[in-house]
This record gives sequence, structure tokens and C-alpha cells, in this order.
Amino acid sequence: MVTIEPTKVCANAECPRAAERQPWSNFHAKVKWEDGTMRQPQSRCKTCHAVASNSNREAKRRYDRRRYRRTRNDPEAWARRLEDMRFQYRARRGVARVNRRQYGTVLLDSAPFADWLRWIVGRDDTSIKGLAVRFGVGDKTLREALKGRDVELATVERALIADDTIALRELYPCLYEG
Ligand SMILES: [Zn+2]
Repeated sequence: MVTIEPTKVCANAECPRAAERQPWSNFHAKVKWEDGTMRQPQSRCKTCHAVASNSNREAKRRYDRRRYRRTRNDPEAWARRLEDMRFQYRARRGVARVNRRQYGTVLLDSAPFADWLRWIVGRDDTSIKGLAVRFGVGDKTLREALKGRDVELATVERALIADDTIALRELYPCLYEG
């Protein structure tokens, strides 16, 4: 028996195939049957879905930028943001402190740095690789910091100086406390 695939028209008026009925396989599933086959397709075809996702990404980037500027220009909001970044650190380690010294290298808990990195990735809609190039540090180092591995003070300093949005003292006040 040959099953005839159902078809439908893409809901997006701008669809390159707006006038034609397309097979359901051109749509992502909105609802599936228990066996995993499509019960109900999404309203827009896969092509239009992808375009919409890209424009959502654009919108998100604009949103992140606006939010960043608002926060940075408002001393109270900025203070709260800094507090948020440091919070994870305290929550995990209890007391802010330099973790340990190894061959003269100062290692820091990566949590505040990782939080800052994620924030910058969102703000600039960039990748860790892109940031690594911009900061002049290895992308592997940044990735490991994101995973929670201790990060070298020198790496943090380089990144903060390159971005120039936040001071080391603000992110790691423990370094300046007696
Ligand atoms: Zn379409």
C-alpha cells in the first residue's frame, strides 16, 4: 500500500513557495504520534522557520545590546549586575579568595569570570572562539573556565583589559582585600 503524504500551504505569506501545497516532510512537527511520526505540522515550512529563527537571533542580539547599555549607564543597575556576577562565586566557595598558587601563577575561581564571559557572548552575539581572538587568549582556556576550571589571573586580566567594561577589582574584590 502506498501512503500518500499529506500536504499543506505554508502560513508565511512571504514564503518562497507560498502558493503551493508542500508535503508535510517540509515542515517540522508541532505534535507527534506516540510512534514519533508527525501528527500535526508547524504552521510555517522549514525554510521559513529557519529565517524566522535567524531574525529572532537578530532581535535577541539587539535586545542584549540595549540591555547592556541600559545596565552599564545606570550605576544602580550596574552595581546589581556586578553583585550577581560575584554571587555565584560566594555561593560556591563560601568566601571569596585566591584559590591557590602554583609556580607563581595565581589561579582564580572561574565562576565570576565565566558569568561575565557568557554575558559578553550574549551582548556581542559572538562565539567563545571570537572572544578568544579578541582577548588574545586560547579558546580552550575560555572553554575550560566556562566548565568551572580555575582560571589564571593573567587570563582574566587580559580579557578584562581587552573588553574594558569591568575592572578586575569589581569582579574579584577578594584580590584587593587584606
Ligand atoms: Zn514557508
